[in-house]
Amino acid sequence: MADAEVEQDVVLYEVRDGIAIVTMNRPKYRNAQNSKMTYALDAAFRRAVDDDDVKAIILAGSGEHFSAGHDIGTPGRDVNQSFDRAHLWYDHVNKPGGEFLYVREQEVYLGMCRRWRDIPKPTIAMVQGACVAGALMLAWVCDLIIAADNAFFADPVVRMGIPGVEYFAHAFELPPRVAKEFLLLGERMPADRAYNLGMVNKVVKVADLEAETLAIAGRIAAMPRMGLVLTKQAINHVEDLRGKRTAMDAVFHMHHFAHSHNELISGSKLGGMDAKSMAASQRPK
Ligand code: ZN
Repeated sequence: MADAEVEQDVVLYEVRDGIAIVTMNRPKYRNAQNSKMTYALDAAFRRAVDDDDVKAIILAGSGEHFSAGHDIGTPGRDVNQSFDRAHLWYDHVNKPGGEFLYVREQEVYLGMCRRWRDIPKPTIAMVQGACVAGALMLAWVCDLIIAADNAFFADPVVRMGIPGVEYFAHAFELPPRVAKEFLLLGERMPADRAYNLGMVNKVVKVADLEAETLAIAGRIAAMPRMGLVLTKQAINHVEDLRGKRTAMDAVFHMHHFAHSHNELISGSKLGGMDAKSMAASQRPK
């Protein structure tokens, strides 16, 4: 990686009045998530969980965008690097065929997202600008989503021949017919529509995003810790009873059939798409 970014923290962490603010910090690449960032996020969440003074956690993105999704093309892309893993999955590096991505994505995408969804403190995603594909996974694992009026949401991976990102919550976050439209067209959903569908809790002016999110986090932080964790677990449990976890397991395997199918017919796990062609396909015509 011949990039100055190596020296910079890809995730920032601070605590203000009992609220931890975890910020993705690769603004030059619209906070594209490489593994380095994923593990740094995990470490930051662990720090917030371990700190008894932290009652709520905000997940933010520095710069103009929350996140453009998984890193599929920056100089810091580290898909072929080994990291100390958070789960008992073995290292994906140097594994053949479909095993490479299957093992990697069990750990860094599905595993991490489930782990973060179950963080025993309330989490709030603070979203401005792009929240695309892999970024949806990060927003969706949070308990609340506060969006700026310039935020937009999209999962365009059907262009890769893939049925949605790895943490398949689409049909739980959106009514099924809207989820189909969202995935089949892969178009941007503006913040106000996401709010009307219940995917976002509040839409505010960009300039007010941080203050509004901190204010909401502050009201949550005034509640008793045990009440907060039990309430969060209660709703998560209801979602799982409604099939969220089992649906996600089933679709994760369709997702990996698609990666392997792509590789078989084109030699590319992403169906020949890269960061550039995906970004181009997303621009409004
Ligand atoms: Zn994948």
